Amino acid sequence: MIQISCDILVVGGGMAGISAAVKAAREGACTLLVEKNGFPGGIPVSGMHRYICGLFSTGAHLPVKTLNGGIAEEICSGLKKLSSDTGIVQMGKVYVLSFRTKDLVGILQSLSEKQVGLGILYGEKVVSVKKKNSFIKSVTAEGQTGKIRIIPRQVIDCSGDGTVILRSRAAHQVSTPRERQLAGFCFKIKGINDPGKMAPIGVPYFISRAVRRKKLPPYLKYIKFSSGDVSDEGFCLISIPAGGGQGKISKAINYAAKVHAVLSESLSSFSNSYMDELSPVIVEREGLRMTGEYTLTKDDILSARKFSDGVVKSAWPIEIWDREKGPSFRHLEPGTYYEIPLRCLKSRDIKNLYCAGRCISASPEALGSTRVMGTCISLGEQAGLAAAKEMI
Ligand SMILES: Cc1cc2nc3c(=O)[nH]c(=O)nc-3n(C[C@H](O)[C@H](O)[C@H](O)COP(=O)(O)OP(=O)(O)OC[C@H]3O[C@@H](n4cnc5c(N)ncnc54)[C@H](O)[C@@H]3O)c2cc1C
Repeated sequence: MIQISCDILVVGGGMAGISAAVKAAREGACTLLVEKNGFPGGIPVSGMHRYICGLFSTGAHLPVKTLNGGIAEEICSGLKKLSSDTGIVQMGKVYVLSFRTKDLVGILQSLSEKQVGLGILYGEKVVSVKKKNSFIKSVTAEGQTGKIRIIPRQVIDCSGDGTVILRSRAAHQVSTPRERQLAGFCFKIKGINDPGKMAPIGVPYFISRAVRRKKLPPYLKYIKFSSGDVSDEGFCLISIPAGGGQGKISKAINYAAKVHAVLSESLSSFSNSYMDELSPVIVEREGLRMTGEYTLTKDDILSARKFSDGVVKSAWPIEIWDREKGPSFRHLEPGTYYEIPLRCLKSRDIKNLYCAGRCISASPEALGSTRVMGTCISLGEQAGLAAAKEMI
């Protein structure tokens, strides 16, 4: 078995993981990133996202810079430079940044692959963790090259699902599948005549009607449509109950086909359309959450609470995709933001374990706000910085 030693091991190369690894290496730590996919970006790339949420403050004026600065600002300005279509968009009470998937992947690659002091292993999956006296001693990854044993001094779990947290038996919480927020499955439709005009309203209307007529299961009425990069395409994001694992992918594809059939029959602009691309995975909003030295709550968010060790700012609302009631949003006061303390990123019981992104220490409601891409970028950056400081 190949053996590698490093200062900091980052597991997962999504938004949180890339930021964590880049920041740790910038701070001079010998850093290794392990990602099971062959590309960076995680859920936003495999799930075909269109907008980065959580980058900006709210209020009456279009924001000119990101709330947190740092790597979030670098990604934001890099995306804007790559495409004139990329820009800040107002959606109700919040502002988001539109982006194209290939631009995001390009930016994440150029940020990480040129970074001195950072090694990246794509196509390698972390499969086991060895621990002694509350310290992670080694992590084993498996991929095309066989097994690799990694001996890290610090570990940052950015796997979204909490792979290291679970395997090191660090304290954590997990909601039951029924309590968990709806998962999502995205597909692209092409050949739509004028997707921007009526489709964002027409699609949910006709799908809800099909649900009322019992042609489709109830959760499919929580569908979201957004227009694509070229004039005849659009993206449908359908909702699927959480916790079924990827075994449910064939069911999701089947639902997507049924949704498309309803749209082709009901909307004249969809009559010549066809399904062009399917997401390879069902994406989960909620997984395992580490129990940190502090657990962020709904009240912390809604009261715009600040902390003496606050490291990341967010103004994103608590966005819950409930299995029975569908999406709901609880906003902060306009112009205000809350802070996430560093203690939410530090394991309560494993001394050399940090986490960032979807699996931070937060209540299920608080996660409804902290899990968006913009916040995950900054959480990763702060975890990378904190872990690197421990090396000094
Ligand atoms: C349906 C849906 C719609 C959403 N829409 C938006 C949106 O429009 N805008 C927005 O800002 N946010 C959106 N989000 C939220 C957002 O996409 C994610 O919460 C966020 O990107 C999480 O980032 P992350 O880095 O924590 O985790 P992830 O993106 O999950 O990345 C984790 C990475 O770790 C890797 N990994 C996992 N296990 C292992 C292992 N054992 N070994 C090695 N690698 C591993 C994975 O392959 C992955 O690349 C949405 C989420 C869902 C589910």
